[in-house]
Amino acid sequence: MKPPAVGYARAGDVQEVVAMLVEHGTDAKVLAGGQSLVPMLSFRQIRPSFLVDINRVEALDFVRDEGESLLLGATTRQRDVETSPVAAAAVPLLPELLGHVGHVTNRNRGTVGGSLAHADPAAELPTLVTALGGELLVEGPRGPRTVAADDFFVAPHRTSMGFDEVLTAVRLPRLPAGTGVAIQQIARRHGDLAVVGVLAAVRLGPDGAINLVRLAASGVGPVPVRLHAVEAALTGVVPTTEVLDAAAEAVSAAVRPPDDIHAPASYRRDMACLLLKRAVGAALRRSEVSA
Ligand SMILES: Cc1cc2nc3c(=O)[nH]c(=O)nc-3n(C[C@H](O)[C@H](O)[C@H](O)COP(=O)(O)OP(=O)(O)OC[C@H]3O[C@@H](n4cnc5c(N)ncnc54)[C@H](O)[C@@H]3O)c2cc1C
Repeated sequence: MKPPAVGYARAGDVQEVVAMLVEHGTDAKVLAGGQSLVPMLSFRQIRPSFLVDINRVEALDFVRDEGESLLLGATTRQRDVETSPVAAAAVPLLPELLGHVGHVTNRNRGTVGGSLAHADPAAELPTLVTALGGELLVEGPRGPRTVAADDFFVAPHRTSMGFDEVLTAVRLPRLPAGTGVAIQQIARRHGDLAVVGVLAAVRLGPDGAINLVRLAASGVGPVPVRLHAVEAALTGVVPTTEVLDAAAEAVSAAVRPPDDIHAPASYRRDMACLLLKRAVGAALRRSEVSA
C-alpha cells in the first residue's frame, strides 16, 4: 500500500519544528528516519495531516561525551551511534544493543530520537534509557524541559510529550568503571523486534557482593519496565546460583505481560525470568571487582 497524501515541510532548526507543530496542531507528526512512521502511514495505522521533517536539523545530530554522561542528539542515526568510539567508551553496551535494532539498512536511516519517541515497549533504546535511569530532553512552545525515563514512556507508542513538543536529545548516565552490562532477548527472527528482552548492569565489590545493579525488561508491559524490586533483592548480596534463581522468580511478580498474537503472557513471563538470569550472568562475567 502507498501512504495517503499528506502535507510536508522541512524544518531548519528546533524553533521552526516547534512553530510548525503548533501551527498544524494535533494532526501533525515529526518525521525522522521514517523507519516506523512510513510503514504506519502505508498501512493507514495513522493518518496525520502534516509531516514536519527534522532530518536537516543539524543541531540535533551529535554524540557528546559530557563526562558523567553521554548526550545523543535526537536525529543522530542509530548506525552512527553504533559505530561511534565516543559512544562506546561512555556506554560500552551501545554497539551490541544497537546491533539488535532491525537491520543495518534500518539503522542507517533510523534515529535515536525516533526510536525513543516511537516508544515501542519491546524496543532496545527505550529499555536502555529505562535501565540506566536516563533523561529525555524535550522542547516545545513553553521552552525546553527534561523528563526522567520513568516519566517519559506512558503506554505502547505513547510518551508524555505534548503534540507541540519535539525530542531533542537523550542523556545516558555513564556507569562506574568495572560495571558489566549485557542484553539478552528472544526474537522470532534476526532483525525482528524482541518478544521479550532483559538488560542488566552489575558491579561487584571487593567482598564479592553486588554493589550496583540496574535491570529493565522489554516486551512484558505497556512500557519498558525497570525492575526496582529485583534490583533491591540483589544489592549487597553475593550472586550465587540460588540468589539468581530467587531473583528470576521475583521477576514474575514484577511484570504484567500482554497476551497478543506474538506470544501469550505466560510465555513472556517465563522468558523474562530466564533472560534475567542469563543477562545478570553475562553482566557478571563482564564486570570487574571494584575497590
Ligand atoms: C524491518 C524493521 C525492523 C525493526 N526492528 C527494530 C528492532 O528490532 N528494535 C527497535 O527498537 N526498532 C526496530 N525498528 C524500528 C526502528 O528502530 C526505527 O528506526 C525507530 O522505531 C523509529 O526511528 P525513526 O528515526 O525511523 O523515526 P520515524 O519512523 O520517523 O518516527 C517514529 C515516531 O516517532 C516520532 N518522532 C520521531 N522523531 C521524533 C522527535 N525527535 N521528537 C518527537 N517525535 C519524534 C514520529 O512522529 C513517529 O511517531 C525496526 C524497523 C524496521 C523497518
